[in-house]
Amino acid sequence: MVKYQLSLFIFLFCSVISTSICAKEPVDILIINGRVLTMDDQLNEYSCGVVAIKGNRIVAIGPQSMAQRYQAQTTLDVDGDIVMPGLINAHTHASMSLFRSLGDDVANRLHNYIFPLEKAFVSREMVYKGARLGNLEMLKGGVTTYADMYYFEEEVAKAVDEMGLRAVLGQSIIKYPQADAKTPKDAIELTEQFIKKYKGHPRITPAFAPHGPYTNSTDDLKTVARLSLEYDVPVLTHLAESKKEQNVIAKRSGGLSPIAYLESIGALNEKLVGAHVILAGEQDIALLKKHQVGVAHNMSANIKSAKGVSPVVEMLKQHVDVGLGTDGPMSGNTLSLIDEFNQVAKVHKLWHQDRSLMPAIDVIKMATIGSARALNLAKEIGSLELGKRADIIVISTKSPNMTPIYNPYSALVYSANATDVQHSIVDGRLLMKNRNVLTADEKEIIDQATAFSQEIKQSLLQQGKSIL
Ligand SMILES: [Zn+2]
Repeated sequence: MVKYQLSLFIFLFCSVISTSICAKEPVDILIINGRVLTMDDQLNEYSCGVVAIKGNRIVAIGPQSMAQRYQAQTTLDVDGDIVMPGLINAHTHASMSLFRSLGDDVANRLHNYIFPLEKAFVSREMVYKGARLGNLEMLKGGVTTYADMYYFEEEVAKAVDEMGLRAVLGQSIIKYPQADAKTPKDAIELTEQFIKKYKGHPRITPAFAPHGPYTNSTDDLKTVARLSLEYDVPVLTHLAESKKEQNVIAKRSGGLSPIAYLESIGALNEKLVGAHVILAGEQDIALLKKHQVGVAHNMSANIKSAKGVSPVVEMLKQHVDVGLGTDGPMSGNTLSLIDEFNQVAKVHKLWHQDRSLMPAIDVIKMATIGSARALNLAKEIGSLELGKRADIIVISTKSPNMTPIYNPYSALVYSANATDVQHSIVDGRLLMKNRNVLTADEKEIIDQATAFSQEIKQSLLQQGKSIL
């Protein structure tokens, strides 16, 4: 009898244990004890919260008490650190990382320095190695998605795929002969091949990237606009960036602004993402809103090039979709986006002489959901919400510069460094843990980039060119 009772007790005890285990929902990654900033429409926050990830999607988000419902393969106890959507760099040229710090203070640098430099050095190898370096910098700085415009864009795609990041990649189209295409027609054909190869990729969105309105003909811009609608892909371009562009377009169009000119040729639509957009008046901003054009705001590049302050405050008032970008590493000169935050907030305050303008929350909105909207990716990324792709970063609150934290958005904008980013998850995959990159050999990437930079330096010196 005693033996029977003991067996019954053991059976019941085991049943309770196994039921409680079975009741837990299996997930792949569970982030616990986080200060969760969702960046959703209501700006919901959890001072101590959890995010559960299954496959490549967010399946739960809420207060810490929810943690007990889940059985995770990997649990990240982030001990009060900030958990937020991955940052989205809405405009860059990652491969130009190999040219970083060359000719920084040269006047009229694009035409006098960068174009000749690219003619001499752009190759498949350069684009791939530069993209790997750029990807590494972005991953370590909290960027999980970026929009890129360059040559041999297929090499950038290869580098993005290998590291596991997400990207919108635009193959460049420009009226000057380039290493990958002798004519704009060749470049358009190359872009079509690139689109056919990568359309439907889970993390890569292929795109057209006409360099700018003034560096392409009206016919080529029209062709790109038509094909982008046919292929249902974005068009990335530099827009309303310089006086030179303004003058060329005014002459070509009988006095129109670059934005009005694009509308006049049928090239303004929701597929278009314009980078910089500095020289835009009230009517231009109304056109951007009317045609749902996305804007990438690149503050550090704009002020370094002394081109002006983009009217982003006015654009946000008119509900234009504005995201943040770094521009290429010859312009910004970093790719981390966190380094942009401070400048975006402070320059707009100074420009308008009003310290209440461009509050920290607006900067973080632009860097996350704003960029996602500008790139037409907001259904999938840009905020932490049920069913969205799991693109998530964790930022330390333990460094001296992040202590204390009263307002997490202020801390991120005015105090955070790129090195405060601890973990990074893209499409449900942990790419960086405790600042260790899990999907690439960091030393190999930096060694390769350094070796390539030595070749560039030697070549420039042999040609008698300054490397300053
Ligand atoms: Zn650019």
